Amino acid sequence: MSFGAFFFVTKRGIILFVMTKPSLNTRKLGQLMCAATEQVLWPAASTTAQYRSKGHSLMCRVGSGQATYHRFDPSRQQHQITYGAKMIAAKHGPETATGWLSAREITQRNYFGGKLSALNLLAHTCCHEFAHLLQHNAGHRYRGSVHNVHFYRLLDELHTDGLADATRNELLSKARNQDIVLSVDEFELPDPVDHQARWQVGDTVAFSTSTRELHGKILRVNHKTCTVQGFGLSRALHYRVPVQLLRKVENVGDRFR
Ligand SMILES: [Zn+2]
Repeated sequence: MSFGAFFFVTKRGIILFVMTKPSLNTRKLGQLMCAATEQVLWPAASTTAQYRSKGHSLMCRVGSGQATYHRFDPSRQQHQITYGAKMIAAKHGPETATGWLSAREITQRNYFGGKLSALNLLAHTCCHEFAHLLQHNAGHRYRGSVHNVHFYRLLDELHTDGLADATRNELLSKARNQDIVLSVDEFELPDPVDHQARWQVGDTVAFSTSTRELHGKILRVNHKTCTVQGFGLSRALHYRVPVQLLRKVENVGDRFR
């Protein structure tokens, strides 16, 4: 299979590659997540009548970065949920998805049978942000203790009440109706033993973005990625590249040193 790839910079300045299928449409997927949150979770929440009586409303939007969050705007009495387009892309590959809290929640709390797929991750992300909305309303969101026992009680309830499944079904059926790529396939994780034997610190490698080919030297072999220092103009940059995107280069020539 051929992958597209794009990258973003982490807080620690590492350039993280995200592999995507060429046809992936993160903005449309984000719009489906907004619709599922507004049309499935919001009306079904047992306390919605309570919110309405307080004059609360909900507005969901798709952001261009990876930031994904709930906030409450007191001046408008409005809950706002943002789903980041780059978060949506990151949740399409095992290497980039597994760093997210939502992936750990699915596997550790056995949501959706503990299975990681793009569909399960995006449906669960809607539930995660909606649980923050419920938590805010219940007055259990504290500075420095956001993912606390109150939060997880609410999140567990969204899964046991069937709302998480309803959200998942809504995303899947709308994506299929609109011909939007959204995979139900469980991620295949690369075998860490195989790939750690294959790649070594100091190896010269090449990898491609959608616009150009980059060369560099492996600085560290991680669980499912390698950290690569660029050559030439990219010398100051560190890339964390999924092993599937790497190729070994035997003789790269002087121009990259
Ligand atoms: Zn959270």
